[in-house]
Amino acid sequence: MANSLEDLGGRRHFDYIVIGCGGIGSGALFWLSKKAGSNVLGLEKFELAHENGGSQDISRIIRLTYPDDRYLKLTPHTFTCWEAVEEESGMQVVYKPGGVTLAERGKTDHVMEKYEAAMRRANIPFETWDNKQLMERYPQFTVGPEFQATFQKDAGLVDAALGNALHVQLAQGRGAKVLDNCPVNRVAKASNGLITVSTPLGDFTCKKVIVTAGAWINQVLSSIGCHVPVYVTEENVTYFGSPHMKEFTKDKFPMFIYHTPINDVYALPVHVNGCTKIGVDAGGAVVSGDKRTWTPDPKRLEFLQDVCKKIIPKFLGPVVKTKTCLYTMTPDRDFLIDTCHRQGFSDVIVCCGAGHAYKFASLLGKILSEMAVDGQTQYDVSGFSWDREALTNPNFKPVFQMASQKSKL
Ligand SMILES: Cc1cc2nc3c(=O)[nH]c(=O)nc-3n(C[C@H](O)[C@H](O)[C@H](O)COP(=O)(O)OP(=O)(O)OC[C@H]3O[C@@H](n4cnc5c(N)ncnc54)[C@H](O)[C@@H]3O)c2cc1C
Repeated sequence: MANSLEDLGGRRHFDYIVIGCGGIGSGALFWLSKKAGSNVLGLEKFELAHENGGSQDISRIIRLTYPDDRYLKLTPHTFTCWEAVEEESGMQVVYKPGGVTLAERGKTDHVMEKYEAAMRRANIPFETWDNKQLMERYPQFTVGPEFQATFQKDAGLVDAALGNALHVQLAQGRGAKVLDNCPVNRVAKASNGLITVSTPLGDFTCKKVIVTAGAWINQVLSSIGCHVPVYVTEENVTYFGSPHMKEFTKDKFPMFIYHTPINDVYALPVHVNGCTKIGVDAGGAVVSGDKRTWTPDPKRLEFLQDVCKKIIPKFLGPVVKTKTCLYTMTPDRDFLIDTCHRQGFSDVIVCCGAGHAYKFASLLGKILSEMAVDGQTQYDVSGFSWDREALTNPNFKPVFQMASQKSKL
């Protein structure tokens, strides 16, 4: 629960302000409060736990494996950071039923090979299976010999809604304040070397500000002449009321990613709401934080139902809910973690999670807190700065497809 303006007792200066309290911003609040206690203020445009952004859902995939070394170096720390939240709260946030990756031979071999090479490089233990081995371990799959799979035991899910709430509550427990329904409409330099953050509830000042505003990142940054080239897409995730839910609990079924030639399909075991969950990665249409349809795409649902019928029929059941949700992606789909030094605002720190950041939300919060308080982070984030072609060349072509560019979706 957020604080009210009265809870601030008339205070208008906090050394550190976080703009946007979704997954990453709540992580920043949690880690900042460890370093700066009550000198931390979080400002959130909507009410806490709203569903307008990218982070509010019961489960998100977490995994060690990324094909890119910049992420491979960070993924072990994602688990450690969530463990810190679990230890302090006494609540479980991460579950590790294991993760299966599967593909049809000859169709996306290069993708499977990239992931396997990455696991070898990083000494991540994994198994490679043919279709029989896959079905021996998980009889829920019904795949022919054309399928190959890998299994990595540490992968699983992170309960995002819980993670966000714990981040905020634990930060508040250390004296941090959080105002929701309080959109920031301007960031500016104050005359005394501080930063002014303007909201409908008045101005606040701080020494450092962290901008984790997701799909609205440019609305916040425009006041300091800063623009991050991002594509905001409206994604869908569907929960099925499978009558076979007992076969899809976290102790019986892994999370899985199916690399199809069109898209990656991802699926999660039953968690909290009794439903199986499935989605298409980056299949949605380009929208904005304020202009979107909120309407599930029937074509994507049909595609996912066809996939399930083919490879995992018992996963299916009546559609309980299709939730729409926003990806905010840089053109290379890599994180942005940097200050706005190019625009003369080295006290403004910005982070964009590029549509795959929930697993990193607590770690990114820690990184941002270190950048704010210590001026640098112990983690190697040099590959996520402004200084790369995707962010500096306006003609850089996105590495992902949007719905309108797809042939089948
Ligand atoms: C369907 C779907 C499935 C996904 N699956 C996975 C997965 O399996 N694994 C994974 O790791 N990641 C996954 N992701 C991606 C991941 O969820 C996001 O990258 C991450 O949650 C983004 O967090 P964020 O804090 O940047 O954004 P958000 O959660 O959107 O937070 C931004 C916040 O800033 C606030 N804000 C905006 N403007 C202002 C303002 N002016 N003033 C104050 N506040 C403001 C917003 O209201 C919002 O609360 C998925 C995303 C979607 C949509």
